Amino acid sequence: MFIPESNTSTTRKDYELTFYVNDINTAYTRTLVEYDANGSMVNTFEYGDTLLARETTGGRESYLYDGRGSVANITDSSGAMVASYTYDTFGTPKLSGMSTNPYSYNAERIDRTTGLQYLRARYLDTSVGGFISQDTYLGELLKPLTQNQYIYTMNDPMNHIDPSGHWGILKSIGSAVVSGAKTVYNATVSGIKAVGSAISSGWNAVTSFVSGAISTVGSWFGSTATTIATGLAYGGAIVGAGLIGVGAAIGAYVAPMTVTQKAQAALAEVKRKFCTGDMKKADKRGVAGIAVFLDPGHGGINPLTGVRDTGATNERKGITYYESELNLKTALYVKEELESKGVKVYMSRSDDVFLFQDTRAKIANVVNADVFASIHYNSNRGFPFTAVQKGTTVYYPSGRDDGSAAVASSVSNSIQTGTSLKSKGTQSSDRIHVLNETAMPAILIEGGYMGGDIKYLSDDANIKAIASGIVQGIVQSSR
Ligand SMILES: [Zn+2]
Repeated sequence: MFIPESNTSTTRKDYELTFYVNDINTAYTRTLVEYDANGSMVNTFEYGDTLLARETTGGRESYLYDGRGSVANITDSSGAMVASYTYDTFGTPKLSGMSTNPYSYNAERIDRTTGLQYLRARYLDTSVGGFISQDTYLGELLKPLTQNQYIYTMNDPMNHIDPSGHWGILKSIGSAVVSGAKTVYNATVSGIKAVGSAISSGWNAVTSFVSGAISTVGSWFGSTATTIATGLAYGGAIVGAGLIGVGAAIGAYVAPMTVTQKAQAALAEVKRKFCTGDMKKADKRGVAGIAVFLDPGHGGINPLTGVRDTGATNERKGITYYESELNLKTALYVKEELESKGVKVYMSRSDDVFLFQDTRAKIANVVNADVFASIHYNSNRGFPFTAVQKGTTVYYPSGRDDGSAAVASSVSNSIQTGTSLKSKGTQSSDRIHVLNETAMPAILIEGGYMGGDIKYLSDDANIKAIASGIVQGIVQSSR
């Protein structure tokens, strides 16, 4: 199928031929692939609920949306922002940055030559706030506004969109906002499907969660040891949900089943293992009789802001170091060593995915871990700005008599023994959200400063040494 849509003078012809492969199985036809007159691919578009990404000869770009569902930012394959858009009331885009992306206001296509927006039945001229041709709908006698056959969304573009180009088929923005949020969420935590309903802490919640309604909103996290789907709270309502899947069970579900079947099977597995008590002690606690929950801080892209959560960053010898990656690397070393000692290990994430703070704690509570350890590295921001700070600090929640302080000091001591990092000791805090929500002894390790300690931290052997310190500290305090 092809739609002659754009003209250009640079080719010194009166027209430019573009071939479109369109998806007509949706409410509003959308373009999948675009070819030039020679049959070379120009753009390939990827869709979820809305447009997610564009593949061009220049690389891959992803779309991030604002609240009403208009394209707000474009990121390249590394997650860096390359362009952003703001709009006036009727949708004339203002671009900052560089992109040949044709989609912007309400995620609809703008012809780059004419500046007109393609809305299927008609073209919209956002600069005058009206269509350039008459609506084929003649309007209604008792609704005067409908008899102006050029106006857009009854002159109420703040609250409506018009993907059809006909006045009678307006959509209100509310659903666009929700689908925008879902789209961002799907785009950032991709590859994974899942499971609805809120999860709060405790077995009862798991039971009702399992038997409750399942909606396929969230996402699957396939990982080797522990599988976690996380949810997204948006505007007070929980859109996605959390789910703990256990072990390799998940892997087996992946291929032949539908998303809903996968969700149900995983939930059944959770229920079987956690709620019916048939999980053997060794499964729950390891042969050492301890279950440790590791929480590598940061990671992924926050679906509410569209911003990548890397934590602290620094550059050394041309290499950029991200705290989120160091945290995960450290946690994986800790996991390996703990498992070699027969300790059962759960992880909040084992990949570069985003998790909200309370989700991290709730998952730990649900698996009923004995110790919660969040792993971070510090940034040098704060006062005094000029001082180069160095060293390890281990935090624990204040006002709790549950052994958190003892785990913190044990870990702090063993890191000091096993590394050449300066020890800044332990510190209690009532401001660390992820610790406050936990129902077990909990610590947060700031393994070193991404600034002052970067040379030390850039050596894998040293990360391993920090990990060993964490392992010894946890194991000794759990005896
Ligand atoms: Zn951090």
